[in-house]
Amino acid sequence: MIEKMELLDVDKLIEEFESMTKDAGNVQRETLKKILEENGCAEYLQNLGLNGKTDPESFKACVPLVTHNDLQPYIQRIVDGSSSPILTGKPITTISLSSGTTQGKPKFVPFNDELMETTLQIYRTSYAFRTREFPIENGKALQLIYSSKQSKTKGGLIAGTATTNVFRNSQFKNTMKAMQSQCCSPDEVIFGPDFHQSLYCHLLCGLIFREEIQFISSTFSHSIVHAFRTFEQVWEELCADIREGVLTSRITFPSVRSAMAKLLKPNPELADLIQKKCLGLNNWYGLILELFPNVKYIYGIMTGSMEPYLKKLRHYARDLPLISADYGSSEGWIGGNVNPNVPPELATYVVLPNIGYFEFIPLKENVEEAKPVGLTEVKVGEEYEVIITSFAGLYRYRLGDVVKITGFHNLSPELKFICRRNLMLTINIDKNTEKDLQLAVEAASKLNTEEKLEVLDFSSHVDLSTNPGHYVIFWEISGEVRDEVLEECCNCLDRSFVDAGYVSSRKINAIGPLELRVVQRGTFQKILDHYVGLGAALSQFKTPRCVGSTNNEVLQILCNNVVKSYFSTAF
Ligand code: AMP
Repeated sequence: MIEKMELLDVDKLIEEFESMTKDAGNVQRETLKKILEENGCAEYLQNLGLNGKTDPESFKACVPLVTHNDLQPYIQRIVDGSSSPILTGKPITTISLSSGTTQGKPKFVPFNDELMETTLQIYRTSYAFRTREFPIENGKALQLIYSSKQSKTKGGLIAGTATTNVFRNSQFKNTMKAMQSQCCSPDEVIFGPDFHQSLYCHLLCGLIFREEIQFISSTFSHSIVHAFRTFEQVWEELCADIREGVLTSRITFPSVRSAMAKLLKPNPELADLIQKKCLGLNNWYGLILELFPNVKYIYGIMTGSMEPYLKKLRHYARDLPLISADYGSSEGWIGGNVNPNVPPELATYVVLPNIGYFEFIPLKENVEEAKPVGLTEVKVGEEYEVIITSFAGLYRYRLGDVVKITGFHNLSPELKFICRRNLMLTINIDKNTEKDLQLAVEAASKLNTEEKLEVLDFSSHVDLSTNPGHYVIFWEISGEVRDEVLEECCNCLDRSFVDAGYVSSRKINAIGPLELRVVQRGTFQKILDHYVGLGAALSQFKTPRCVGSTNNEVLQILCNNVVKSYFSTAF
């Protein structure tokens, strides 16, 4: 049966967005009311004494600001299979594995139909604005997307990363069709069990449909860069497959092989053409346009920790527009990119006032006392931490992201993503805090007590000078410790970062092996001396647990005192 799908009405979507943002204050009140009405019977809200009240004032008076840590016991009961209304009125049946950790354990957040619907709403909204500026034809998209396996929790709930939960939802495909954004690869590739094989097949499908490809996308843009770095390695093999019409033996999964066999026919002309184009390029500059002559833009999250990848992306894309995708998290969506003309470095996101109830903690003031303000009360030029109240059981939840207000779209603020509030180690989708580092160091230093290993002090650094980037942990230790023990410590450190983003990136080598560098005795004293020399109070001195490249003097002290270094073989 041929499925008929109406294309989205771009003008209508834009009109809806305009009228909603013109009335942002009221829409927020209504949204909060709806969230509290739908979930008022949940145990969490029942215990807070709202007694059916749904106005923002009562809400703020009764409901405390929380972090993931505070909600962990509630979420754990859901994960363990309790079907009573704990955080939401309707039981939660799916869990998202978010990047980041709580006390060293992977972070779970609830996922439900309402969250799926808000996801699609934000996709549609930014699509409408994008399409108005950069129209696409009814072709295909090279979407470098990968769906990890969904598993079952102990209590029988489905668990996967948020993107997996979205891609596997039946509405996802229909929405992509209505957005003329159908992925050129078959489902077997997107949902394939092996990332490397899926990536190879995505590239192959892209080449087979090269004339039809309208845009190239991924969730976070480092996946696009990663894919074309891989292309540089495998392009001859791809050409050979196209020439013979036979898939390389490196693709081993029968489901993937049979899906690809349906698309692959011997095509020596195409193979010759691609070969000629590849050989004609200078250091792969402009590769994307050569391979895909009708591509209109590149799309994916390009702000925040994705910015370092823009340079390489531009190298591959030459003058194609790079459009940053929307701003959200596993916990819920926040804003859409409705100014696709703007380069990613300047991209901002307009909050959709009906996808959640939003508050903002001003960062200028003393943190302890700063009172959150409402969506329409934020001030241009100021920085805030984002607080989400969602349709999926999070109430006044501190997301931990810092944003800056750059202006207003009608009455709804435009945000620029600044950073994670407590984040220190991040390369792409991984997120590790000071606490995560501390737990990893604790675990590794306990490995071998007979060796009298004592970690005197430690720090860390994200080394992006290597490709891919990797974590460096500096240790000052006491006692004589054998190389084998330190090698094992290094592996243990690497394994101890259990954040889903880190683990998945390590598995596909989008983050390189962790490096343990042992520094000379007295190195951390030199760092202290350095800070005291700058006027720091000795009694309040805290060793910087993560040293950025901009802190060159401290980084130099660390690097100049390295006596031994080890690379992890844990993955
Ligand atoms: P996750 O919980 O794994 O879904 O990751 C969500 C986090 O990724 C957010 O809290 C942000 O820190 C970051 N993020 C998501 N979208 C963007 C964006 N458009 N720009 C910058 N950072 C983003």
